[in-house]
Amino acid sequence: MKIDVDVVVIGGGIAGLWTLRRLRDEGYNAVLLESEALGAGQTRYAQGIIHGGTKYALTGKLTASSEAVAGMPAIWRACHQGRGEVDLRQAKIISDAHYLWSTSNLASRITGFFASQVMRERTVALSTQQRPSLFRHRAFKGAIYRLDEPVFDTISVLQALAVPVMPAILAINKHALLMRPSALEVEAVNGDSFEFNYKRLVFMAGQGNEDLLNAAELRGPAMQLRPLKMVIMRGGLSESVFAHCMGAGVNPRLTITSHLDDEDNIVWYLGGQLAEDGVFRSDSGQIAHAQQELDELIPWLPQQGLQWATLDINRAEVRHADGHRPDTCYAVRQDAIITAWPIKMALAPLLARQVLDLVADVDKTSGELPAWPQPVFAEYPWCEPARWGMT
Ligand SMILES: Cc1cc2nc3c(=O)[nH]c(=O)nc-3n(C[C@H](O)[C@H](O)[C@H](O)COP(=O)(O)OP(=O)(O)OC[C@H]3O[C@@H](n4cnc5c(N)ncnc54)[C@H](O)[C@@H]3O)c2cc1C
Repeated sequence: MKIDVDVVVIGGGIAGLWTLRRLRDEGYNAVLLESEALGAGQTRYAQGIIHGGTKYALTGKLTASSEAVAGMPAIWRACHQGRGEVDLRQAKIISDAHYLWSTSNLASRITGFFASQVMRERTVALSTQQRPSLFRHRAFKGAIYRLDEPVFDTISVLQALAVPVMPAILAINKHALLMRPSALEVEAVNGDSFEFNYKRLVFMAGQGNEDLLNAAELRGPAMQLRPLKMVIMRGGLSESVFAHCMGAGVNPRLTITSHLDDEDNIVWYLGGQLAEDGVFRSDSGQIAHAQQELDELIPWLPQQGLQWATLDINRAEVRHADGHRPDTCYAVRQDAIITAWPIKMALAPLLARQVLDLVADVDKTSGELPAWPQPVFAEYPWCEPARWGMT
């Protein structure tokens, strides 16, 4: 079946879905193609924190990264309240804030940081009563600050974005994709074939962008992968925690977010420097290291009976000269093809705006789309029983 559309987006993670929603709201006849499940790439692994840049400003000066994300919490909150550029009222905020804490030997560094002019607003260390209950323990000797940056349930965000535009989302077989100038042939998961005549084709497939660029015979932009070995733990955890532990370096030493597994048990999801360095460790070595970190940083947390697992996942981004994280989201247009990566989930709104600018010269058309198979939403890794092999 041949179909004329304005824009085809490939990839149903946070970037593709936010962009599809914006395009359709603006009146473009846009469709999205997904070859696995919505969110199946990096998005289901995200910790869901909508950073406002504080984490990146820890060097003591405003960095390009912290400037880029500074406005994101306000944009996401407006969407969640139903007065933003997309309607996220159905999405869940799992924590209204997260916390930055330090051990006693680094307390002066964190205090100095929050008192410095780097911060837009003066922030004071929380008193015992203001702290999350985990940090009210008498053994806690450091300093802790609240960051007014929400944490979202990422799959619920994808649902809020996708459900109203579901008829424009097609589940395809990844390897049956043929690209020609201004036309794209795909095979739907039920075997039906579609040929899309497009005006713009947007690659928003995360790690999959590289294959798409090759299929389109484009030499760039180059992609980089930055691997992480995250850790999940569950079993008798009684409280949810959303906090970064500041270490001696620029990155948080440990980041903890909390989620629910398929039986509603609390799962702690551990990242930060632990996950960056963990790629050089075996799974069991990484778990042992996580246990040691928790022993040092939260020694009052009982660890008996906990179940552990590691999650390996790559961050996929445009290549940065020195291999570090790019400062902000990236989109480039080469003739009719746009290639984009958000770098952070938080930056999806900014990336969608860039893509809207890159399609601004496309005439909007209206057209009916046929009924076709739609993808399901991905599961969180911690909701997949097979992940919890190791105890
Ligand atoms: C462990 C971890 C924690 C993170 N935590 C945070 C956080 O707290 N806050 C934050 O802001 N950011 C966070 N991030 C970053 C954030 O998750 C990513 O920037 C974001 O999810 C990338 O979204 P995306 O849509 O570009 O790609 P993806 O989520 O990878 O989506 C790409 C989609 O394209 C599909 N696809 C691939 N190839 C094809 C093809 N050929 N045809 C059709 N479909 C295809 C895939 O199946 C997938 O669904 C984190 C990342 C990781 C790895």
